[in-house]
Amino acid sequence: MLQEQEAHAAATERTFIAIKPDGVQRGLISEIVSRFERKGFKLVAIKIVVPSKGFAEKHYHDLKERPFFNGLCDFLSSGPVIAMVWEGEGVIKYGRKLIGATDPQKSEPGTIRGDLAVVVGRNIIHGSDGPETAKDEIDLWFKPEELVSYTSNSEKWLYGDN
Ligand code: UDP
Ligand code: MG
Repeated sequence: MLQEQEAHAAATERTFIAIKPDGVQRGLISEIVSRFERKGFKLVAIKIVVPSKGFAEKHYHDLKERPFFNGLCDFLSSGPVIAMVWEGEGVIKYGRKLIGATDPQKSEPGTIRGDLAVVVGRNIIHGSDGPETAKDEIDLWFKPEELVSYTSNSEKWLYGDN
């Protein structure tokens, strides 16, 4: 019973992923979505939105003392962003692996930033860095009713059923 509960909790782990304005303008939405989708993670929320500067400041509140904070918030609010919630076992940590290091010069080839971006100020994607931030960021960007719980057809093939 405990094992079943643990398995369920792991499978419903969720993270917040955003394609920043540079990724949207460069036509990388489908490329980025497909990397999460093909891995086996499940999309449970998605929308296109232009965040206000104030909203960007809330999203990046942890970084407000950093010298790049103002420019970063200006940039995030400069155009459409694709906000998403992805679900799956280990999605928070593995999502960060798919994304790659913050500085694309240090991201491994094969990662999203490694393959598709060049400089840190235009690194095309955001992903929550841990369970607390994932929860806070999902709550900031989405209303509870915007998250869709469903069983994907491939779940038993991804996770097994015994
Ligand atoms: N950033 C920047 N200059 C830096 C470090 C970060 O412009 O020297 C930007 C970059 O877009 C990064 C974002 O600030 O994605 C948030 O920084 P964080 O350290 O949280 O990196 P992330 O979690 O996005 O990898
Ligand atoms: Mg971060």
